[in-house]
Amino acid sequence: MAPYYDKVERLIGVYGTSEGLENTPNSPPGCLLPPPAPLVSDYLVQQRARRLGIPIVPGHRAVLTQQLDFKRSPALLHPGNLKAQKIIAAHMQQRAACIWATDCGRGCSIRANYQSTTVHLPPALATGNLDIACNAMVSQVLLGRNGLAKGVKYFDKTTGAEHQASARVIVLAASACETARILLNSKSASFPNGLANSSGKVGRYVMDTVGSSVSGQIPLLESLPPQNEDGASGHAFYAPWWGYQDQQKGKLGFARGYHIEFGGGRRMPGAGTLHGIERFTGGSYGKKLKEDARRYYGSFVGFDGRGEMIPNEHSYCEIDPHVKDKWGIPVLRFHWKWSEHETRQAAHMQKTFADIVEAMGGRVTGKVQSDGAEAIAPGGFIIHEVGGAIMGKDRQSSVTNGWCQTWDVKNLFLTDGAVFASNADKNPTLTIMALAWRAADHIADRMRRKEL
Ligand code: SF4
Repeated sequence: MAPYYDKVERLIGVYGTSEGLENTPNSPPGCLLPPPAPLVSDYLVQQRARRLGIPIVPGHRAVLTQQLDFKRSPALLHPGNLKAQKIIAAHMQQRAACIWATDCGRGCSIRANYQSTTVHLPPALATGNLDIACNAMVSQVLLGRNGLAKGVKYFDKTTGAEHQASARVIVLAASACETARILLNSKSASFPNGLANSSGKVGRYVMDTVGSSVSGQIPLLESLPPQNEDGASGHAFYAPWWGYQDQQKGKLGFARGYHIEFGGGRRMPGAGTLHGIERFTGGSYGKKLKEDARRYYGSFVGFDGRGEMIPNEHSYCEIDPHVKDKWGIPVLRFHWKWSEHETRQAAHMQKTFADIVEAMGGRVTGKVQSDGAEAIAPGGFIIHEVGGAIMGKDRQSSVTNGWCQTWDVKNLFLTDGAVFASNADKNPTLTIMALAWRAADHIADRMRRKEL
């Protein structure tokens, strides 16, 4: 997998640093872009958390801090493929470095941040090998008489008309649960319980990220001189998991770990920016309210834990026998249960974040939960849903092999988070991308050899 992580980082543009930490493998030289300047609140968290033994290092985010290396990278990404190198080089030059001033969540018109619509689709279209069917709602994968997948059935969402598309190889990447839904809805005489489901594992082992949050008000950050702190819209620094030694000594009571994302500063204010300020001002009014707003704005820091969920038998999805969507396609229903590994982790997050707030000389703005079951965000809330068609070593216990290829149907591949066999604390996109690229290389190789 390692070369594919590097390739994805090189293609999409990821800022960050290589810190040589156990939890966070280094990237090769020249792979990561320089990180942006942190905010003053980031520096304060770093100084005080380090006193508690928690490492705070530059975060990794897919935003360009400088132009991509369009001279060297294309040959490293597509060795021997001059057409692909030329397209990627041209595309890299069309992406500009971030100006740190707008709302990335709405899309980036200068293509500084990573999103498939501006980073993947334009070069893919430039190959001349891509047709996009917009507003196509896939309902099932169609199975041929030879036991191979022959295409997909889909509805045109604008007209409601039903269509089919055929292909030599089918790749599902519909987002983990939707991929499971399509498979479960693809029933046939050979697969009465859903396509590629001879193991009965399609829909099983659905996971999300463990999440829990604490915020604090920090007097040291009050009344700072006003300046533009829009900066990177996500975290500039973060804390990778640091607790391996305590875990080995049996001090923690849960397996695996989490990372901490945090944010503060005086970003562009919006509605609700000073919501709750009356807890500190006592409910001021008029001129005093304006003074208080200037004093407190930027003095709040929020901490979010993002931790590993271990798959379990009780967290799964299945076809709802009673409910269909507007296209008549049966929908999923979900079953969920956190194990103690996750709830104890959430309780650990709460205590850690409260300790950091205290080390910063601040006070927690809400309640610090000691009960992990209360502290943990509901399953699905962090929208890192993965699993549902996990990869594994044999066809009895998993849906795909290590190439994301279903055991049962050799020309059917799953390249989204459905194949995850666990959900490490790392946010899943980079791993999805690395797995997908690796699977794509495998497919191309097998097609060249006429094995697919
Ligand atoms: S702040 Fe976000 S939207 Fe604005 S240029 Fe940077 S990445 Fe693009």
